[in-house]
Amino acid sequence: MKSWGAVAVQDLSSSLKFPQMHLSDTASGLKKPLDDKDIYRMYVCGITPYDATHLGHAATYLSFDLILRYLTASGSRVNYVQNITDIDEPLLERANRDQVHWNDLANDQIELFRNDMSKLNVIPPTHYVGAIEAIPLVTQAIDQLIVRNSTYQIDSDIYFAVKHDSKFSSVSHLPNEEMIEIFAQRGGDPTLAGKKDPLDCLVWMQQRPMQPGWPSTHGCGRPGWHIECTAIALNYLKPDESEGTLIDIQGGGSDLIFPHHEMCAAQARVISGKELASHYVHAGMIGLDGEKMSKSKGNLVFVSTLLASGVDPFVIRWSLMSHHYREDRMWSDEKLAESTTQVERLRIALAQKDVAPTTDLIEGILHSISDDLNTKSVIDSLNDWTDRTLDGVAGGDSSQLKKVVQNILGYKS
Ligand code: ZN
Repeated sequence: MKSWGAVAVQDLSSSLKFPQMHLSDTASGLKKPLDDKDIYRMYVCGITPYDATHLGHAATYLSFDLILRYLTASGSRVNYVQNITDIDEPLLERANRDQVHWNDLANDQIELFRNDMSKLNVIPPTHYVGAIEAIPLVTQAIDQLIVRNSTYQIDSDIYFAVKHDSKFSSVSHLPNEEMIEIFAQRGGDPTLAGKKDPLDCLVWMQQRPMQPGWPSTHGCGRPGWHIECTAIALNYLKPDESEGTLIDIQGGGSDLIFPHHEMCAAQARVISGKELASHYVHAGMIGLDGEKMSKSKGNLVFVSTLLASGVDPFVIRWSLMSHHYREDRMWSDEKLAESTTQVERLRIALAQKDVAPTTDLIEGILHSISDDLNTKSVIDSLNDWTDRTLDGVAGGDSSQLKKVVQNILGYKS
C-alpha cells in the first residue's frame, strides 16, 4: 500500500548525547529500557478506514512518531510497520449506513489519513500494509496455527483457541469475566454457539451473502482482525532468530490492549514459541470538553477540520504533547488557543539571533523524551526558554535548538 511522502530525520548522534530510551511496557507494568541496537522493529496498529483522522488517531501516531524520531536521530534504524484494516465489519457497517461502496469509503479515508499524517509531519512507516493485500500472509499464519492444533471450525469459519497459549492474558492481566465483557464490546462474539471458550477469536470468516470475499486455501472469505496484524508483523518485521522477542515495540491506543494486542501476542507465541514484543506500548484516549470522544457520541474532532480552519499542524502536535502520552487527555478550544499562543511565541523566539542559553535545555529535552516520552516536561522547558529569550536573555545557540525541535519534535519552520 502506498504510504505518504518521506520525512527526513537527521542523525544528530555525532554532536549530541542520546540517553538510552525507556518506555512503559503494559505487559510487565514496568518502565523498561530499549536494548541498545542498530535496528529496532516497531509495529503500530493502523486505522480501519471509516472515520479518519480524529484526534485520538493523531495522538497515537504522534506518540510513536516521537519514538521513531528519537531512535533515528540517535543514529539507529527502525523498521516500522503499520497496517490498514481495509476490510472489516465496522467498515462494512459504515458503508452500509452511508449507502456507499465499502471500497470507495476505504479509499477516500485512506487518502484523507495520508494527507493528515503528511501535514502533521509524521514519518511514514517503512511498510504500510493493507489487510486485503496481506491475505496470502494471513493464510500462511492460519496454516501455522492449524499445524499446532490451536484452531477449530464453526461451520466454515476458523477460530483460534486462545487457551492453547498458556500465557494468554499476560498483556492485559484482566480477569476472565472482564475479558468476556470487553470482547463483546469490541467486535468479539463470546456467546456464539459452538465456541470452546467465549474468548476464542475468529481468524478466517467465510464469505457472507452480499459481502466481499477473497479466495484462499481456507475457502473464499476474509481475515479476522487480530491474525491480520500478527501475520503482517511477523512477515514484514523479519524477526532476528538470535533475539529473545520477535519485535521491540507493539503499539497502539490503550483501547487495543484487549482484545487486540492480547490476541496478537497469543497467536505469535503459538506460531513462534516466542514473546511478540519486548515492549507493549499504549497511548491514552482523547476526550472533548470533559467527555470521552467516541464515534457513538458523535463528538469526534478531526485533524482535517482543524487544519482546514487554519490551525498550524505543529500546534496540534504541541497540544497533544503537553500531556503525557499514556494519560487520557481532554481536548478543548481553550487548550487549542493556549497552544497556539505558545507556538507563536516559540516561532518568534527561534527566529531571534540572540537566544537564551540552549545547552542545558537541549540536554533536558533529550533526557525527557528518552524517559518514556515525558513531553510535558519538554513543553514546560521550551515555554520557559521562550519567555527568557523574549525577555532579552542571551548566550544560546538557536540553530542547534532548531535542529532538535525539528528532528525530534517534528517542528517545521
Ligand atoms: Zn493491529
